[in-house]
Amino acid sequence: MVIAIDGPSGSGKSSTAKGVARRLGLAFLDTGSMYRACAWQAAEDGVSDAADLVALARAADLQVGTDPDDARVRMNGTDVTEAIRLPQISAEVSKVAVVPEVRGELVRRQREIVADTLAGGRGIVLEGRDTTTVVTPEADVRVLLVADPDARVARRHAELGEVVDVAAVSDQVIRRDRDDSTVAAFTEAADGVVVVDSTELTLEQVVDAVVALAGK
Ligand code: C5P
Repeated sequence: MVIAIDGPSGSGKSSTAKGVARRLGLAFLDTGSMYRACAWQAAEDGVSDAADLVALARAADLQVGTDPDDARVRMNGTDVTEAIRLPQISAEVSKVAVVPEVRGELVRRQREIVADTLAGGRGIVLEGRDTTTVVTPEADVRVLLVADPDARVARRHAELGEVVDVAAVSDQVIRRDRDDSTVAAFTEAADGVVVVDSTELTLEQVVDAVVALAGK
């Protein structure tokens, strides 16, 4: 069983994918964490040229946990699980993700993780921007999770805590939508991809909807 969930920032895809993985006893892969880890390393090394970013991605010792309750990320020996969520990484990550060869390298690694997980007798839930279309177009269930921009901003704001100004969060969400618009067509579902609108739904209800699509 492979379940692929794509969606924009704040659509709830990460919480949904984890919830579905827990419910069905599947592994979990946050593909965005791999782009974030590369953006973190690029910031550490002070590089931004496409050629340097490609070299960095190809050489990376990148370990991504697939336990939905403990998906830790290690980049070249450093645990970057928390660091990759910092606002400066969120602001920079699209620049890494637009480089086609970086995408090629990370997609290759993502497919490898899926294949290894399946070979170990376990299914997997992947989430990201292109998992339904590029990474695993053959997935058993493919979902595009959408939500109104206001709902996405409110969720991100709740995640980040009250200390962050809601207008700043709104700017970030809108800017990342724009930066990512060239990365992957995540506002329109490809053929065979089911659109789930989470604007009016609780997390539990979204998880129920995806589990139902999986026929469970
Ligand atoms: O999902 P998350 O917001 O953590 O993803 C971070 C960034 O990684 C996205 O804004 C996008 O630029 C990139 N990304 C991507 N393809 C994916 C997952 C994430 O380009 N499959």
